[in-house]
Amino acid sequence: MTQHQTPHDIASLDAELAGLPLAGRLSLAASLGRAVFTTSLGIEDQVITAAIGTHRLPIEVVTLETGRLFMETVCLIGATEERYGLLIRRFRPLEQDIDAYAARYGLNGFYESVEARHACCHVRKLKPLAAALAGADIWITGLRRGQSGNRAATPFAEYDPERNLLKINPLADWDIETIRAHVAAEDIPINPMHDRGYPSIGCEPCTRAIKPGESERAGRWWWENDEKRECGLHVAEPAASSIIAPAH
Ligand code: SF4
Repeated sequence: MTQHQTPHDIASLDAELAGLPLAGRLSLAASLGRAVFTTSLGIEDQVITAAIGTHRLPIEVVTLETGRLFMETVCLIGATEERYGLLIRRFRPLEQDIDAYAARYGLNGFYESVEARHACCHVRKLKPLAAALAGADIWITGLRRGQSGNRAATPFAEYDPERNLLKINPLADWDIETIRAHVAAEDIPINPMHDRGYPSIGCEPCTRAIKPGESERAGRWWWENDEKRECGLHVAEPAASSIIAPAH
């Protein structure tokens, strides 16, 4: 538990974060308890990792190595660790979960239905995320309001009732132009795919380049006709845990 879990305190924290620069936001988040930052190695997450590394902030940096990432993303993990002298802990899916998924849906069964897609994200992302956040008080993310209509109301601070922790989104108000300018000014390493039309990069089979005029996340699970599609990391998905028998 933290001292900021009443609605009033979270609103105060949100206002306090709004008035701080990025390093100040992260530093305040780290002062509230055990803080874990989950990075997908996307451009905004690289901005946060750079700030954590540069200012030596006591924040654990973790990533979900789903087993289906682009090679460019995997390479960037090591390059980022080297650049900032920090460890990015990898959390991977359980082999028996992958086997159970493949037996039921097929390894690439996620194209066939939303249910099968959620089941794959559950096994490869949500369960490793739960392991990554076990015992954490604060979850730091790179969510931004400009990423999609679904994220337009992203606050700086919110309570995550499902995981019983505080979620801090220190880049909530940064737009993509500000992110790009910051990356250039600080020479922060980023995924080369961003320059090839991939503003948002997830698993290789579920990510395509976007077309001019499309939203930043339009290339994620593009075959689904739901504008609110997400992997479940940042939305409650109560049905997901019952989709596939949980492994122990
Ligand atoms: S993004 Fe695609 S490959 Fe990755 S976990 Fe979700 S469904 Fe599976």
